Amino acid sequence: MATSTRVGRDPASAMSETAADLIGRERTFGARNYDPLPVVLARGEGSWLADVDGRRYLDLMSAYSAVSFGHGHPRIVGALIAQAQQLGVTSRAYHNDELPFLFERLTQLTGLDRVLPANGGAEAVETAIKAARKWGHKIKGIADGRAEIIGCHGNFHGRTITATALSTEPQYRDGFGPFPTGLSTVPYGDADALAKAITPRTAAFLVEPIQGEAGIVLPPPGYLARCLQICRERHVLMIVDEVQTGLGRTGRFLACQHEDVKPDGVILGKALGGGLLPVSAFVATNDVMQVFHPGDHGSTFGGNPLAAAVAMAALDVLQDEHLIERSAELGAWLLGELQDLRSDLVRDVRGRGLFVGIEVAGEKNAARPVVDRLLARGILSKDTHGTVVRIAPPLNIPRDDLEWAVGEIRAVFRELERDVKRAA
Ligand SMILES: *Cc1c(COP(=O)(O)O)cnc(C)c1O
Repeated sequence: MATSTRVGRDPASAMSETAADLIGRERTFGARNYDPLPVVLARGEGSWLADVDGRRYLDLMSAYSAVSFGHGHPRIVGALIAQAQQLGVTSRAYHNDELPFLFERLTQLTGLDRVLPANGGAEAVETAIKAARKWGHKIKGIADGRAEIIGCHGNFHGRTITATALSTEPQYRDGFGPFPTGLSTVPYGDADALAKAITPRTAAFLVEPIQGEAGIVLPPPGYLARCLQICRERHVLMIVDEVQTGLGRTGRFLACQHEDVKPDGVILGKALGGGLLPVSAFVATNDVMQVFHPGDHGSTFGGNPLAAAVAMAALDVLQDEHLIERSAELGAWLLGELQDLRSDLVRDVRGRGLFVGIEVAGEKNAARPVVDRLLARGILSKDTHGTVVRIAPPLNIPRDDLEWAVGEIRAVFRELERDVKRAA
């Protein structure tokens, strides 16, 4: 799609009957566990989306990195259709002729030994936690039922009870207990705190290389390498949750590879499904994976041939279109441009690769007006943690589209500054 027909109307006020009707139905019949922006999407192609009224939006969110290759990438869609016509779902009661290739590919890309496939990210996190606990009991020799997992303040590992139990966000936990025990957290970015928290009962340290949901929070340089060293010294597994940061998002295949960290286990998801399906995986060393025996753990849909074919196509696109290098280069440019915003309303701009957060000065929902104004200008972004605008476009976004978006972001901050001055 060309980038010429851009509109500056307020989508909420210009909303058609159809859009209002669809939003009404969703609100009437759906659980209210989300509060979506008032836009009803109907089509997508590359970095562009269109709503039910044909209004177009540049996607700077990529479904939280699930759409890293853009919407409807022809090669990934082609793989999906071809495989769907061949064989879709078999369960792991049988072998299939796609999954072995995905396994092999993921071990090559991560430098790890074995893969356990799942669907959503939270499931793969759950798999990692089960693996770590069992490793603690069976290999490390922790008394049965006593293994502990250490996570980080501000973490996000999904919405299962275990991930919720590990969360430090009160809203994520409120009313959902009782929670499993054997979970604790330490400040993110503080390796000494990790060293202090480890006990003989600690099985694993679970960490995001960059905290996405927490607001694109980067730990100090050297943090991950230091954590790995501590974990090695204390016979503790280091498991890195790369569900959001993996597959080139930060300019390396894995974000932990920026520090040459090879952990004991890596969790992948989101982009692994090529923007079309939920595909996730826990990838780990032989030392960890030896704990699983037939019947210990599984998933009906995990590793199905359709998912494997789509994931392979996604990894092919990542490699053949040089998207990791592209993320590094375009991301460095984007970060520079945004750091140049020079607005009193911008408290901080941080990120790595095409994974950037703009922290907006002000109240706890300060990012929302920026997101709303970008939406009105035909740009989809998302506030996270109240004050941070998340910018994470598809890795193959055309450079001129991103340049246009930077101009619009600049204009939005000028507009907001003017409003603040007027109000003062
Ligand atoms: C999104 C996310 C998850 C959960 O993935 P789902 O597919 O939503 O279950 C886990 N960890 C991280 C770091 C994530 O960003």
